[in-house]
Amino acid sequence: MNWLLSVWNYRCPRCRETGLFIKPFDIADPLKMKKGCESCGQTFMPEPGFYWGAMYVSYAIASAIMLPVGLAAVFVFDISMMQMLFLLLFICAITFFPIMRLSRSLWLHTSVRYRPPNK
Ligand SMILES: [Zn+2]
Repeated sequence: MNWLLSVWNYRCPRCRETGLFIKPFDIADPLKMKKGCESCGQTFMPEPGFYWGAMYVSYAIASAIMLPVGLAAVFVFDISMMQMLFLLLFICAITFFPIMRLSRSLWLHTSVRYRPPNK
C-alpha cells in the first residue's frame, strides 16, 4: 500500500497494517482513535495536542472543496448567494467527519516514517 492510499484508508503510518480509528463508526465520538497500532506498537498520540495541527490541514482540504463548488454554483449554475450558502453548509455537514479523519491521518503520516513489518 503506498503512502497516499495509507492516508486515504486511515492506516497506521508506520506499518500500514491496522486502522487508526475505532471500528465500527462510533456516533458518540466519530473521531475516537485507537491508542496505538496492534501490529507495530506505534502510538497514535505522539504528544499532547498533536492533532491541533490537523485543524489547519482540514481547513485546507475543506477550502479546496468549498471554493470551487461555491464559485461554480454562483457563476456556472447561477444560483443566489443564499442558495449557495445552504449548499455549502450541506456539503460541510456531510463531509465534516470524513475531512477531520482524513486530516488527522494526513497529519500523522507527515511525522511518522514508514517501516515495513518484518515477516
Ligand atoms: Zn503499525
